[in-house]
Amino acid sequence: MSQEEFPTANQNQPAATPIQRWQIEGREWWLWGLAVVVTLVLTFGIVSLTYFQLHPQTEGTYWTDLKEWVRGLACVVLLFDIYTLYQHLQLQQIRRRLAERDQLFQLITENAADMIAVVDGTGQRIYNSPAYQHVLGYSAEELKTTSSIEQIHPDDRQRVLEAARKARSTGQGQRLEYRIRHKDGSWRILESTASVIRNAKGETEKLVIVNRDISERKRAEELLAHSAFHDGLTNLPNRALFLDRLQRALVLSKRHTDYKFAVLFIDVDEFKVFNDSLGHKVGDEVLVQIGLRLTASLREVDTISRPQLGQAQKDDTLARLGGDEYTILLEDIRDPSDAIRVAERLQSRLAVPFTVQGYEIVVNASVGIALSTAACAHAEDLLRDANIAMYRAKRAGKARCEVFDTAMHEVAVRRLELETELRKGLELSEFRTHYQPIISLKTGRITGFEALTRWQHGDRLLSPAEFIAVADETGLIIPMNRILLREACEQLRSWHAQFPAEPPLTMSVNITSKEFAHPNLANGIAETLKQTGLDPNHLQLEITETIAMGDPEKAASVLAELKALGVRLSVDDFGTGYSSLSRLQQFPVDSLKIDRAFISQMDSDAESHKIVQVIIMLAQTLGLVTVAEGTETEEQVNQLKVLDCGFAQGYYFSRPADHHVISDLLLRVNGRAATPAKANAALAGG
Ligand code: C2E
Ligand code: MG
Ligand code: MG
Repeated sequence: MSQEEFPTANQNQPAATPIQRWQIEGREWWLWGLAVVVTLVLTFGIVSLTYFQLHPQTEGTYWTDLKEWVRGLACVVLLFDIYTLYQHLQLQQIRRRLAERDQLFQLITENAADMIAVVDGTGQRIYNSPAYQHVLGYSAEELKTTSSIEQIHPDDRQRVLEAARKARSTGQGQRLEYRIRHKDGSWRILESTASVIRNAKGETEKLVIVNRDISERKRAEELLAHSAFHDGLTNLPNRALFLDRLQRALVLSKRHTDYKFAVLFIDVDEFKVFNDSLGHKVGDEVLVQIGLRLTASLREVDTISRPQLGQAQKDDTLARLGGDEYTILLEDIRDPSDAIRVAERLQSRLAVPFTVQGYEIVVNASVGIALSTAACAHAEDLLRDANIAMYRAKRAGKARCEVFDTAMHEVAVRRLELETELRKGLELSEFRTHYQPIISLKTGRITGFEALTRWQHGDRLLSPAEFIAVADETGLIIPMNRILLREACEQLRSWHAQFPAEPPLTMSVNITSKEFAHPNLANGIAETLKQTGLDPNHLQLEITETIAMGDPEKAASVLAELKALGVRLSVDDFGTGYSSLSRLQQFPVDSLKIDRAFISQMDSDAESHKIVQVIIMLAQTLGLVTVAEGTETEEQVNQLKVLDCGFAQGYYFSRPADHHVISDLLLRVNGRAATPAKANAALAGG
C-alpha cells in the first residue's frame, strides 16, 4: 500500500490528532527554504566582501573586517548545520513512526474479517483488503477494474451515493446497510461505516470504508421474525399476523365505507380421527396439504368469484391458527354472497380426496363467516364471531357454512355465562343425583337404576338437557361425573344392604364423549370402585352408540380397558346411530338400551314397532340384554313383553327421583327392606 492511502482524519478519533503526511512535507519544504536562504545570504556576503569592497578603508582594517565577516558567516553556517541535523533526526523519527503505523494498518486490514476499502471521489476503489476476496469472491485484479457502485443493488445505490456525498461534505460518515453482488450473482448484505481522508487544505480526498458482512445475521433475524409470525408446520401466517392484517382491514373499512371484507373460519371435521387412526405424521401431512390446497383454491376463487372488481386484487390472507383451524381474510368483497360463494368453493375443493403416504383421505370442513361491520372495533371480536359461526355450522351437521349473526352472539354469550355458573355450581355442590329405576319385565321388580344428574340452580332444578352439552365441551363433566359416580356407588352399596336381592341391584351411569376420550377414565372409575367398595360387576357404564362407533379402534381399546375393570357396558340410545352389526359384535358390551324415540312410538307407529322388534332379535342373537328406555304407557309395556324385551325404564314406572323417593319405591315394589341391623351387617360384609 502506498503512503498516500494511509487513512487519516478519521471522524472517530478526533482527540489525538495523528501525524499528517503534509506536516512532514511542510517541514521539509521549510528546511529546504531555509537552506536556500542561508546559501543565498552566504553567497551574497562573500561576493559583496570580495568584489564590492563594502568598506573602502585602509588595507589593514579591510582585511580585519573581512576576517570578522567570514567568521560571522562560518558561525551562521555552523548553526544552520546543527539545526539541519536536528531537523533531519526529527523527520527520521517521524518517518519511522509513520512506517510503523503503515505496518500496523496493513496488519489490521490484511487480517481483518471486515472488508476495508479506500475509494476516491468517483467511487473507484484504490485499495481493498483481502477480506473482499473471501466475502465477495472477486480477485484483487477484478476489484481494481470494477466499480464498487455498480456492484451495489440498484435499489440501494442512490442511498449509498447520498451517504458518500454527505460523508465527503460533512466529514461525518454514517452507519449504512446495503446489498452488494457476490461474484456468484447472489446478494450479500453489508453494514458499512465511512471515514474521510483529508488533504493538506483540509479537503476530503478519499473515503475509507469499513464493511461488515451481516448477511448471516440478517438472515437469522429474518428467520426469527418470520417464525414469530408464521406457523412452523405449514409456513402460513399465524394467529398474530392474521390478527394484524385483520386489524388493518378494519381500519381501512372505517375510512372507506365501500370497502368490505369477510373472515372465514375453517375447521376440519373429525380431524382427530386421522390423527388417532393414522398417526401424527400423516395428520401433519394432511394439514400441510390442506394449507396448500386452500392457497391454490383461494387464488382460483379470487379470479372466478370476484372477477368484475376491476382494480388489482388484494392478496387475501390465509392463516393457520393451530390444530385443524384455518382462517381467511377475504378482502374487498362486494356483498356477503361473495364470501359464501368462496367458502362453498373452498369446501368443494377440500372434498376432493387427498393422498397422503399411500392413504386416500377425504376431508370435510365446516366454515364460519363473519362480515365486516361498522360496529366491530377489534380484530379479535371478528375472529371470535367467525369462530362462533363455525361452531354453529358444525352443530348443524358438519361440512356446512354459516354466516355469523347477532343471535349467535347472544347464544355464545349465554353459553359463556352458563360455563361460569357451572363452575360456581360445582364449587357450591349444587349438583344432585337422581335415580330412575330399571324394571325386569319378567318379574316386575326393580333390578337397577340409572343415575342422572340434576342441577339445583337457585330455586330451579335443571335437567341435563340444559347443561350437559356445555359441561361436556368445557370438560367440567369430568369433575361433575366423578362426584356423581361416587355418590351413586355409595348409594347402591347402601341399597344392597337394605334390599338384598339375587342378582343384586345394579347402577348405570352415563359416559359422555369427553369422558370417553379422557385417558384417565378407567383409572378414575377403578379408584372410585375401590374407595366405595362396590363390586364392579354391579356397575354399568352407558356409552352412546355414536361415541362407541365414532372411532372404532380407539373405542375398542377404551372399552376393553373398561371391561377389564369388571364393569358392565351398555350401548345407550341404540338405534339412533348407524352401528353395523359386525362392529357391535367386536365390542365387549353386555346390553343395548333401545332409544326412547322408538319406544315412545311403538304403540302408534308400525315402523317403530318393527325397529324395536328387530333390535331385540339382534340383541338376542348377540347374547345381549335389552332395556327399553322411555317407556310411558301400559300398551308399550305389553308390547315389549310380547317382543321378549328383558328390561324397561320410563315414566310409566317412575320418573328419576332422589334417593328418598326411590327408597320408598323400592320398599313398595321389591318388598320389605332388611332390618337396619341386617343392612349394617351386609354393608360391613361388602
Ligand atoms: P339417557 O342416558 O338416555 O337418559 C335417559 C333420559 O331419558 C333421562 O333424561 C330420563 O329422565 C329420560 N327419560 C326416562 N324415562 C323417560 C320417559 O318415559 N319419557 C321421557 N320423555 N323421558 C324419559 P335426563 O335425565 O334429562 O338425561 C338426559 C341425558 O343426559 C341422558 O340421556 C344422559 O345421556 C345425559 N345425562 C344425564 N345425567 C347424566 C350424568 O350424570 N352424566 C352424564 N355423563 N350424562 C348424563
Ligand atoms: Mg343413559
Ligand atoms: Mg338413553
